[in-house]
Amino acid sequence: MQIPLARPDITELEIEAGLDVLGSGRLSLGPRQEQFEQALADFVGCRHGVAVSSGTAALHLAMIGCGIGPGDQVITSPFSFVASANSALFVNATCKFVDIDPDTWNIDPELIDRAVTDRTKAILPVHVFGQCCRMDRIMQIADAHGLAVIEDACEALGAQFDTRPAGSFGRCSTFAFYPNKQITTAEGGMLVTNDQKIADLARSLRNQGRGAGGQWLVHQRLGYNYRLSELHAALGCVQMQRIDEILDRRRQTGQWYSQRLGQDDRIVLQKIHPQGQMSRFVFVIRLADRYQQAQRDRLVQMLNDQGIGTNIYFVPIHLQPFYRQQFGYTEGDFPICERIGQRCLALPFGSKLTEQQVEKVCCTLNELLEKL
Ligand SMILES: *Cc1c(COP(=O)(O)O)cnc(C)c1O
Repeated sequence: MQIPLARPDITELEIEAGLDVLGSGRLSLGPRQEQFEQALADFVGCRHGVAVSSGTAALHLAMIGCGIGPGDQVITSPFSFVASANSALFVNATCKFVDIDPDTWNIDPELIDRAVTDRTKAILPVHVFGQCCRMDRIMQIADAHGLAVIEDACEALGAQFDTRPAGSFGRCSTFAFYPNKQITTAEGGMLVTNDQKIADLARSLRNQGRGAGGQWLVHQRLGYNYRLSELHAALGCVQMQRIDEILDRRRQTGQWYSQRLGQDDRIVLQKIHPQGQMSRFVFVIRLADRYQQAQRDRLVQMLNDQGIGTNIYFVPIHLQPFYRQQFGYTEGDFPICERIGQRCLALPFGSKLTEQQVEKVCCTLNELLEKL
């Protein structure tokens, strides 16, 4: 691939930090974990950070932390990565999908309000592609109905709504550090919260249900192994030291794309809410309504054939084979989500992309759109 879809931003500093850990003899449950937790929690403006092995693990612990269980209903968006909805299923709760806003592609708060029932326990807003949801309205609805809010901020480190960081609104929030995210630990995630009890519980659950400072072979509850190793945490510490530089470069890359593609009437860009500040996770464009899904698929194929890393983002969750089989969802259930999902594609993005590469992507895209 000449221009990859995503590439992690790893420097000599991360490599050195990794080697330091290997030489230290302390590979897990050491000082880097805590240092990384503190750095990320401070950045988001929350009291506690609990580092775990993936964003998905963080979502699972967030569900348990908020007391979600069998029979409970969690309202969330079908326009997301599958892990957000899956987390409700992990605790034997059910997902209640509601459709999205056609401009921002985030969950539509007014539809949440109408979907609340006696069984609703939580709202799980997903900050899609790095745009924070309308958290003012979502918190209002949650408060009015006494619901917990778990923010899936796995794509939104550095985003804001009303000058408040994504991840600082909910009872707990989750971040992810897979190599294509804003910062990476190779694999990893974090739960952030202001609630001491949730933080303590999550620390126990990630570590096989051990008690705080308790004995190694005494287990207080049903736990998991969701620990983040010192090697991973050390990468996270360095990435957090470099966070401003990383986010600035990503912002710049997003601007290059927006300037080149913003006026093209064959393409619709994700609209940024006036109260929001986006921290892009990927650069996703959507083809105009006159294009069909098959044309989008052909475009993705042709871009990849020309060495430009491109992918479909997202296949709606309710149309995933597992969700269709398990719950009987079908086309037409969430029409706005589907209209957008059928026409979206992600272009190469990241902090290491140059302006020339963006130019090359946009030129190739333009040529291929002519032929479509
Ligand atoms: C990346 C991501 C996750 C979790 O990612 P992991 O791969 O488990 O670290 C969860 N939700 C969304 C929306 C994501 O993009």
